[in-house]
Amino acid sequence: MTSASAVSDLQYIKFVGPKRAAALRDNGILSPRDLLYTFPRKYLDRSRIVKIGDLSSFDGAPEPVTIIADVVRSEVRRTARFRKPMFIMVVRDETGVLTSLWFEGVQYLRERFEVGELIALSAIPSKDKFGRYQFIHPEIDRLSGPEEDEPDWGKLYNTGAIIPQYRSNKSLVSVGLDSRGFRRIIRSALQSIGAHIEETLSRPLIEKRGIIPLQSALQNIHFPRDEGWLKNARLRLKYEELFYLQLLMALRRRFLKHETAGVRLFAKSPSARKLIDALPFKLTQAQKNVLREIATDLESGFVMNRLLQGDVGSGKTIVSILTMLVAVDNNLQSALMAPTEILAEQHYAALCKWLKDTSVTVVLVTGSQRSVARKKALEALRNGTAHIAVGTHALIQDAVEFKNLALAIIDEQHRFGVAQRAALRSKGKTPHILVMTATPIPRTLAMTVYGDLDVSVINEMPAQRKPIKTYVRQESEKKDVYEFVRAQLRIGRQAYFVFPIIESSEKLDLKAATEEFERLRSEVYSEWTVGLLHGRIKGDEKNRIMEDFKANRIQVLVATTVVEVGIDVPNATVMVVENAYRYGLAQLHQLRGRVGRGGEQSYCILLTGDLSMGRVGTGDIFSPFTGKEEVQKRLAVMASTTDGFIIAEADLRLRGPGEMFGTRQSGLPQLVIADLSEDTELLQLSRDDARSVVESDPHLRRPEHSMMRKEFQTRFVDPFNLSLVG
Ligand code: ADP
Ligand code: MG
Repeated sequence: MTSASAVSDLQYIKFVGPKRAAALRDNGILSPRDLLYTFPRKYLDRSRIVKIGDLSSFDGAPEPVTIIADVVRSEVRRTARFRKPMFIMVVRDETGVLTSLWFEGVQYLRERFEVGELIALSAIPSKDKFGRYQFIHPEIDRLSGPEEDEPDWGKLYNTGAIIPQYRSNKSLVSVGLDSRGFRRIIRSALQSIGAHIEETLSRPLIEKRGIIPLQSALQNIHFPRDEGWLKNARLRLKYEELFYLQLLMALRRRFLKHETAGVRLFAKSPSARKLIDALPFKLTQAQKNVLREIATDLESGFVMNRLLQGDVGSGKTIVSILTMLVAVDNNLQSALMAPTEILAEQHYAALCKWLKDTSVTVVLVTGSQRSVARKKALEALRNGTAHIAVGTHALIQDAVEFKNLALAIIDEQHRFGVAQRAALRSKGKTPHILVMTATPIPRTLAMTVYGDLDVSVINEMPAQRKPIKTYVRQESEKKDVYEFVRAQLRIGRQAYFVFPIIESSEKLDLKAATEEFERLRSEVYSEWTVGLLHGRIKGDEKNRIMEDFKANRIQVLVATTVVEVGIDVPNATVMVVENAYRYGLAQLHQLRGRVGRGGEQSYCILLTGDLSMGRVGTGDIFSPFTGKEEVQKRLAVMASTTDGFIIAEADLRLRGPGEMFGTRQSGLPQLVIADLSEDTELLQLSRDDARSVVESDPHLRRPEHSMMRKEFQTRFVDPFNLSLVG
């Protein structure tokens, strides 16, 4: 992005140097450009700046307030009460003095402050035992600049400047790159290369959207002239980020769809018709609509790339089966890939049952099946005697070859990565692709994550379904929960008890689940049959347990999250989730979706577990940063609605898109400034713009798009190799 003559190496920026450049590099900031794209985390918020003498009016404030004051004294102190030393700082403004305490990072803090230096401290005010206000662990921003050449932020602040604040960490701070350090090097970077930064958007686009040029956006995102300029800078940079994201999607879409001829299938399928007539239920209107959309794709002559979204229990499986029958009637093969063996086996069983009286041959391919069975299955797929393959990841292994794979369906697609989707695709020449997901994705996110796919939605539940009733219960109410479940068992229903297993504490979790199973089996529900299912139980044993539960030979299934996706046992009407606080909304929704699949009223009971329990590990959504309150919010959302889309929106708000979507897996680039849950409108505009650029100039060959091509290649490791294509 910077011109050839501009400084290309970070370390030559004034005030950076080799040591800081190395620390920046360790933090993913590799070039001057990266540095300029390291946007402030926030700005010193004038509306929250208060005088020390006014702190009493902010007693119990929900959000931190900021004090700007001079350092009077600071010291490390050891007290009898705390074993560790603490750091104490006293500051003064014209209305009073304030003491702040730190218990962490003491050694590092002690060296840093000078008497008389101006600093900003932000925290929620609290009181000491004498009733005086104090700050505990406030955030610090140093405002005076003792070094020459550095602006005095204290003075700037007093003259009304908006002061940027940057994210930092231990390793950066140790080389002087705290917020103040960042202000200094970014200022210097802007001074030295700011004028060489090349525009990344075309003139017509800039004019059409009324946004400001890149140079002034970068200047103003860091050191805004005023609020208005800051707003414009943010708008411009958000648009730019979303535009390139949408350009990536538009190109993917273009290359997948329009450039790829697909086998033209004849969509009228006698086998499908026959199955529809034999079903014990009528297809919903939504299912019919989706089938029609799929048929249109299959007949188009282009490759289908369709996402089928449908809430848990909306009936996606039958849609996929009917679609495969279209391929069968065209004498071509299909594959259905599921994320777990249980699910694959369930699909296989459903297919066998429904296709029993036909000449259609279905084979199962999983990792744990016997080698004889597997060999037979693979042979049948190779020579074409098998029409449909159902399986797990095992389907994408090298050994698996198809004679003429024309349709690849991926169930619960969020469990698979982009690479796996591609691997299944590569088993055929240019097979049609249908990916299915029961994790309803908010529209904005769908537009982005699946910007390269066409989207169909089953937005209707089978008619006789009753909404599941959901309750949140404390650990202390467990007895009542047992009784409630007992009442359901008495009228012939079945129940799940689900336990979380977190990888980092797998052994402990497994132990907890097993112990509870023993208790339920021998004490609580001794008159019924209780089964246990978890990831360690393999192959035949697992199948037997699932079969027994399906056939109601087991009434209570104690399980880990292996039952999370897809399991279909309509007679099960109660889902008890232990330690529900450990799950995210999407997972809870999936779990709840295991019940309410028949005509009976179903229930979901979320046991909060012991929220104070200290077992928190990686992969645990109950990270130190998600407090009790967030958990309660999450569970309250579950109790208030069964609508997967509403839950997904809430999830997006509570967790943010990155978390929610495992961006890396989805192949979605990380967003720095735009926010998918907020910038909906901008997302829409950028998408329209990106699509029309790609439509008019699919290889970005035109001179007026050359900057886009360049920027695209800078941002992404060019997945389309535009330089070769062009
Ligand atoms: P999901 O969309 O979660 O994968 P499934 O395909 O497993 O849902 O379907 C859930 C249950 O609903 C299954 O037992 C299935 O046979 C049944 N089902 C599917 N479509 C209908 C319908 N139109 N009417 C009644 N039941 C249906
Ligand atoms: Mg399903």
